[in-house]
Amino acid sequence: MHPSTLEAILERVGRAATAAGSRVRLLAVSKRQPDVAVERLAQQGQLAFGENYVQALCARRRQAVFAALEWHLIGPLQSNKIRLAALNADWVQSVDRADLVGKLARHRAATQPALNVLVQVNVDAEPGKSGCTAAEVAALCARIAMEPRLVLRGLMAIPRPDPERSDRRSAFAAMRALFERTRDAHPGIDTLSMGMSEDFELAIAEGATLVRVGTALFGERAG
Ligand SMILES: *Cc1c(COP(=O)(O)O)cnc(C)c1O
Repeated sequence: MHPSTLEAILERVGRAATAAGSRVRLLAVSKRQPDVAVERLAQQGQLAFGENYVQALCARRRQAVFAALEWHLIGPLQSNKIRLAALNADWVQSVDRADLVGKLARHRAATQPALNVLVQVNVDAEPGKSGCTAAEVAALCARIAMEPRLVLRGLMAIPRPDPERSDRRSAFAAMRALFERTRDAHPGIDTLSMGMSEDFELAIAEGATLVRVGTALFGERAG
């Protein structure tokens, strides 16, 4: 990774955020990237990183140099990994069903700060894909809000990867509308996680407050 890649991405994020009149955070998606690349980015001041497997997140976190960084789980959460996720993640962005909620809360240690949670929405209603339906968001958010060991922070979506750009724009816009409706019931929420390497500027223009960028920061992934 060239030393100025982070700066260049932050500049693009900043420009898009200014145009949208918003504040946007950058999540560096480090899945299948070498430790040394994560370390370099951290040294340059990047503090928030995302992994899509619980084991991968735990493996990073276990290392002293990465322990103070902020770790987000952005991949699907299997039932047998809930305890590990609750104990090791700072954020879980992929909560998409009620049975995860009580278990995440139960396993979050009393000595830890409350776990930050996003509700993942299957915004294009793709069959077989992670995420709840738009219609399920209100009930799931209400369930999360009942748990003192969890903090509802907002919504997350991964729109269909390959549609026309206009389709993606309308998916982002639908997420923004859903986010605003959710905020009426939960005024504390502040995070709409959407946009990746290919489309983070479009996502910001449509209301994203956190973008998840992997390859544009790190280069192509291994394997
Ligand atoms: C891999 C991944 C990203 C990053 O994708 P890039 O195209 O490499 O920026 C973002 N979000 C999720 C949920 C991912 O799994």
